[in-house]
Amino acid sequence: MKEFLVSPGAKVDLGRWDPNDTSAFPGLTKDDGVVMVENARLRLRELQSRLIAQRRHKVLIIFQAMDAGGKDGAVRHVFQGLDPHGLSVVAFKAPTSTELEHDFLWRIHPRVPSRGEITIFNRSHYEDVVAVRVRKLAPREIWERRYEHIVNFERLLADEGTTVLKFFLHIDAAEQKARLQERLRDPSKQWKLQASDLADRTQWAEFIKAYEEALGRTSTVHAPWYVVPSNKKWYRNVVVAHVLREALERLKPEFPPLAPELAGVRSL
Ligand code: ATP
Ligand code: MG
Repeated sequence: MKEFLVSPGAKVDLGRWDPNDTSAFPGLTKDDGVVMVENARLRLRELQSRLIAQRRHKVLIIFQAMDAGGKDGAVRHVFQGLDPHGLSVVAFKAPTSTELEHDFLWRIHPRVPSRGEITIFNRSHYEDVVAVRVRKLAPREIWERRYEHIVNFERLLADEGTTVLKFFLHIDAAEQKARLQERLRDPSKQWKLQASDLADRTQWAEFIKAYEEALGRTSTVHAPWYVVPSNKKWYRNVVVAHVLREALERLKPEFPPLAPELAGVRSL
């Protein structure tokens, strides 16, 4: 899925990725896409059974997006049906006063997956170079150093057996406006809307710039970023499910054999 990958070291211009694009799967309709995600989920479930049994690989999936970019929806659609035993979702909100007393990775590290687990980060340490930068919560000399810390941190995770996949769900300002408008209108969605979301909208360009720099400086071979065209929710799900499935297939997880002490046992 090279078209979505941010090449390590590349300068990122998000304008080059069309949020409406669906061309990676030519001719795919919405109905086909829904079936494709269902099939991918069945295969992911099989692969996950092996991951859990083998207790060898760890999988960390990071979602970042502008507000209303569809992180929650992607998690719901792609991961439903997986075994909850081996799966966790962590949503990182604005840091508490205790968290702010520590370095920015302090609250992140304890939440990474252990052997056999898949962990999803809904927002992550990338807030510390995006939200913190745009909202001026720390001076440049603080967040500027964090790119290198992030690359090193993710390298540590990878060296110790973690597969790290990072998805930027890419919507445009018009799509965000429509989704926020819907949150305002629909009583079942109003709880999702905060005054700060409206304030963030006025800083759209600053957020894009901060994301471009973060994606460009932290996409690595060991922890690549994927830019997912996300104006169409069904296509977003197709791309995330596909990239994830390919990554787990590459791990070739296997059920472990019978324990050595049971080697001679044929029946009970
Ligand atoms: P949705 O996209 O559905 O609105 P959400 O992820 O925005 O969900 P919220 O509770 O609305 O969830 O927002 C969490 C807020 O916490 C975001 O505005 C985010 O920027 C902020 N946040 C998370 N981590 C940090 C951080 N390290 N520093 C500053 N702000 C942070
Ligand atoms: Mg929000």
